[in-house]
Amino acid sequence: MKKIQLKKAYKEALEMLCSKEDPREFTHAPFLLEDKKQAFATDGFMIAIVNANKVTGSKDFRIEEKLDLTTIISPIRNKTIVIPLKDIKKDFAAAPQVELYDTIGNDVECETCEGGGEVLWEFEGHEKDDDCPVCSGQGLTTIAGKVKNGKTSVDRTTLVKIGDSHFYTNLILKLIDIIEKLGGEEIKLVSQTQEHAGSLFEVKDMEIVIMPCQVHKDVKIVASYV
Ligand SMILES: [Zn+2]
Repeated sequence: MKKIQLKKAYKEALEMLCSKEDPREFTHAPFLLEDKKQAFATDGFMIAIVNANKVTGSKDFRIEEKLDLTTIISPIRNKTIVIPLKDIKKDFAAAPQVELYDTIGNDVECETCEGGGEVLWEFEGHEKDDDCPVCSGQGLTTIAGKVKNGKTSVDRTTLVKIGDSHFYTNLILKLIDIIEKLGGEEIKLVSQTQEHAGSLFEVKDMEIVIMPCQVHKDVKIVASYV
């Protein structure tokens, strides 16, 4: 990948962790800390870090003034576990599968209540907010449907063990998407310590911390790399 393409890919990789629909505002866009040296993005479960000068447009990112990440991001490098993406994909394909769905149509906002689901009712000079009679308070007149598409995928609620920790498969799939966005071909664990909450992975110049989860007997571990 050319340098200019990689700078854009780092920005897109950061944005892959963000979500405008998430109620937590810190997840909406990538950000810098006060020193402006590194760019970050997080979904609350994973955090991606890369030198700001390697990211297209990072000077326009918002600045988080009072965020302390020192308890989350370890400076220690004490692990080298490398998992080729083709190997983990093979393991996921052999794991219990769930059926995938395609979305059919779109959600269409109700024009009567402008999507709010409530309208103002008036009766002999009295006013009251109540459910919109057109959409029955749903805010939508058409709701997108879901239909099975014949494809399957590993169950995202299962767990993967890497090194000493367990992670939700959902987060590992997200990690794989980011690695592929940057043109990487392997998952590389570089740090796991007692003192730091997350495990640290590396892809090219980006570091990604993932929060591990507790193992409990009802959740299946579908792959293990130690
Ligand atoms: Zn309505």
